[in-house]
Order: sequence, then structure tokens, then C-alpha cells
Amino acid sequence: MERRRLATIWLGGCSGCHMSFLDLDEWLFELAQHIDLVYSPLADVKEYPDHVDVALVEGAVANEDHLHLIRQVRERTRILIAFGDCAVTGNVTALRNPLGAPEALLHTIYIERAEIAGCLPHAPGIVPQLLDKVQPVHKVVPVDVYLPGCPPPAPRIRALLEQVIAGEDIRLTGREMIKF
Ligand code: SF4
Repeated sequence: MERRRLATIWLGGCSGCHMSFLDLDEWLFELAQHIDLVYSPLADVKEYPDHVDVALVEGAVANEDHLHLIRQVRERTRILIAFGDCAVTGNVTALRNPLGAPEALLHTIYIERAEIAGCLPHAPGIVPQLLDKVQPVHKVVPVDVYLPGCPPPAPRIRALLEQVIAGEDIRLTGREMIKF
């Protein structure tokens, strides 16, 4: 069976979706027989590679770095999966949207309400600039598959990855697979 090139991406999310991926426990050893993990927060790879078969994208698009990365991911990946509710809808990450523009928000948090004298977390080239609005992934690039859940439970992730390994079209059917 052909080995698949799998990537997992961490945008604006709490890493809970990746924790759920790790909840696959011993099945990860079986998964490793069939995939090469070519990019992930779980692997020390600096540049997003070419010719990726499948990418699980956790989190919403919240800053300039996310925007750059998700565009690269889309260009270089055959099947892009919105992995978890933050990627699918914005969810927790998008809760800042109604609170106003990032500059005003940062000023409130780091200056006005700081218990000790604060300063804005600006460090060009180190701290990425926040976007005006947090967006779910599909608002920025086309998404092929939506994997809901906060986080998606491990059996749901496994069901999806088994189809990836088998080279089948990914279909999540049944209430247990698609409920939020
Ligand atoms: Fe965390 Fe839930 Fe968002 Fe996943 S969907 S990154 S678990 S808040």
C-alpha cells in the first residue's frame, strides 16, 4: 500500500485537537506503518514541504503567520482538512471578533487593565501581527473536508485516517462522526 504524506498544522487553536490526535494511543504505531509525518508541531520541520497528500489543520486564521502558512498549505496539499471547531467555524479563537480591532483590544488588556505597568506585545519579526478579524479556514482558502468537534474525538480522527490510508474518498457519515 502506498505511503501517504501527512501534515498536521497548528494555527490559532489551543492544541486540544492535536492532543486528541495523540489520544489515538497505540493505533499511532499502526498509523506510522502507512504514513510519513512530513510537517507537524510534533516534528521539527521548519518549512512546509511540497507534495503533501493530507493536512489536518487545527485552529482558525488569527495572525499574519497563520495567513502565510495556510496559503502555503493550500498550494502544496492535495486534501486539506479543517480539523476541529476552531478551524471549521472560528469557535473559541474567534471570540475576540466582537471585542473590536486588535490594537484597541491589546491596549485594554496590556495597558489599561494591566496590574503592573505593561507594554504592548509588539516585536516585529518575533510576535506576528494579529489580523483584524479571526477567520475559519474556509474563509481564507478552499477546504476539502470538515472534521467537527472541540476537539474531534480520537475515534472520529481514526475513522478519517483509515480512509486516508486506504486511499478512499473521505466520507464522515452517521451522527457520531459529524455532531459538534
Ligand atoms: Fe482547542 Fe477546541 Fe479549538 Fe480544538 S476546536 S483548538 S480543542 S478550542
